[in-house]
Amino acid sequence: MLVSITFDVEHDCPPYLMTTRGMEEGLPKLLDLMAEKNVRATFFFTAEMAKRFPGLVKRVIDEGHELGSHNYNHERLDRLPRDEGERTIVKSLEVLREFGEVVSFRAPNLQFPNYYYDILAKNGVLVDSSKATYKGYREGVRFFGEVLEVPASTTSSVIRLPWRLQRLIHARLREPRVYFAHPWEFVPMQKEKIRWDCRFNTGNKAIELLGMLIDHYRRQGAKFLTMGEYYELYQKLKR
Ligand SMILES: [Zn+2]
Repeated sequence: MLVSITFDVEHDCPPYLMTTRGMEEGLPKLLDLMAEKNVRATFFFTAEMAKRFPGLVKRVIDEGHELGSHNYNHERLDRLPRDEGERTIVKSLEVLREFGEVVSFRAPNLQFPNYYYDILAKNGVLVDSSKATYKGYREGVRFFGEVLEVPASTTSSVIRLPWRLQRLIHARLREPRVYFAHPWEFVPMQKEKIRWDCRFNTGNKAIELLGMLIDHYRRQGAKFLTMGEYYELYQKLKR
């Protein structure tokens, strides 16, 4: 059984807030949890957050996780002309690659027109995780040209649902199960003027629930993969 824990590392709840509480308080707690559970995760950073919080990028890399790109400053690719979208991707890779290798990408809001696969390939990106099974993408893991698509399985708020409810959802997901969450979900957002589904069970409750999710899969003998590891796996299958 293959499971992936991924984080979209961005300012708080874009585009509604401009604060960075998730970076200051949420991400250190997430890194502590991943260390405690001995899980290597993928952290898709916006270049903007990497520039403002370089110590956290270094921690991600030093603790054995994968660093990926979540574009420059959370620009939505479906709302930009193609050449401008390309520029934001290239700029984000330039900044992030100063910290280490970057081979994976996730588009903000999981909005990713297919013509961007070629642009990723041209820029040395091997894996994309911008498609989402819960948004109707049904093709599973597959190559688009040179780039391997590893779709996200559920929306992020699922892993904040009460455990007895969310476990019914997990049981129905296709493999590999790719979860994603944001640092800002791990600080209390209950008082912010954002959508309800962005607020419930945020803070320490979310940390507790993510820990339960990891334990649940551990008990079943699941293997936790980073995005780059899927590329190695599927390259082998291709041969
Ligand atoms: Zn995002």
